[in-house]
Amino acid sequence: MIRLTRKGVRRWLRGHPWIFRSDVASVGDAVRGGDLATVAGSDGRPLGIAAYSDQSEIAVRGTPIALGEDVETGWLRLLDAAIDRRADRPACARLVNGDADGLPGLIIDRYGPGISLQTLTQAADRRLDATVAHLDARLAPTTLALRNDVKVRHHEGLPEAKRLLRGAPDVEAPIGDLTLGFDLLEGQKTGGFLDQTDNRLAAARFLSGEVIDCFSYDGGFGLQLAAAGCDVTCVDSSEHALERLRANAARNGLSVKTEAGNVFDRLRAWAAEGRQLDGIVLDPPAFAKSRKSADAGRRAYKEINLRAFKLLRPGGRLVTCTCSAHLDRADFERVVAEAAADAGRWARVVERRSAAPDHPTLLTARETDYLKVLLIEVS
Ligand code: SAH
Repeated sequence: MIRLTRKGVRRWLRGHPWIFRSDVASVGDAVRGGDLATVAGSDGRPLGIAAYSDQSEIAVRGTPIALGEDVETGWLRLLDAAIDRRADRPACARLVNGDADGLPGLIIDRYGPGISLQTLTQAADRRLDATVAHLDARLAPTTLALRNDVKVRHHEGLPEAKRLLRGAPDVEAPIGDLTLGFDLLEGQKTGGFLDQTDNRLAAARFLSGEVIDCFSYDGGFGLQLAAAGCDVTCVDSSEHALERLRANAARNGLSVKTEAGNVFDRLRAWAAEGRQLDGIVLDPPAFAKSRKSADAGRRAYKEINLRAFKLLRPGGRLVTCTCSAHLDRADFERVVAEAAADAGRWARVVERRSAAPDHPTLLTARETDYLKVLLIEVS
């Protein structure tokens, strides 16, 4: 049994699944890192079941496994529920989104016939074999990639690891009307960024004419925009990502221009040339990765949005994103608002979006709502 301090109990009762080590009063001798153990207050009254880590500062992560339920059965029950919940999602979708699905540290992404997964906590890591056996029985993936090449594993005392459990790393899968290739072993994250799937289709409906896709990676936005008839230029600093983008364009008979380079420099150069655009997508990496870097992050977001506003023709449209958990929605909108004001543009928010529905967030843990997207039209 894990006993929480009074402060820990208050946090638990507010519904936040993460309890810090400083809010843990005692851990029973029988409890090991990676266990799904009973959590209680100082009076010993059980509160629920949580994943325990003997290394991370986040020592306890609550789960919706019921008191009295066999915990291993509970883990698989939640896995089934997560997969069932995505029954109406396309062939490329996240099947398990960690805490929000009640499976702390477990990420499972499906790319058509392939599956890529991450076990980012001791509890998820210990249940890797059971999880894979369950996925095999239900979904029989032809490719299975383990993408534990992420730093957060160090907090749990777990090494980084990246390997194929089965099949070949390259898979093809439909996204919208396109068929795209993914490299589940070498692609970023688990092979791509599935959280933007629906936003890319929304952007393709929203934008038209001459458009630049900034921080394009392998063309998630740009290819959908080209398929919708836009004249697209994709910019990314990774030549490797742009190569994959061009291969995906060719696979779908699309023509997209690519420019390898730094978006900050490109935006500045285009402004100097007096270039005017109908649409811009800004989907940068997280500039505010920690609370400490939040200010520098804000400045970086402000700069790219300011430059984008200056480049748009009257009636032009901007799709601007942040995936920084440390910048909340209000903060992000404030930064974009300052950029619009400094650029002297009248900016109308047409739609506010977030991660795709297969990336649910937890209402009681606001930081899980990391992806914010604004669709803006300027005068
Ligand atoms: N828009 C993409 C995801 C972008 S991820 C999609 O829809 O899938 C962020 C991308 O930004 C990465 O591909 C990275 O190579 C690129 N990047 C990071 N800093 C950059 C910079 N300063 N200039 C250009 N590209 C950059």
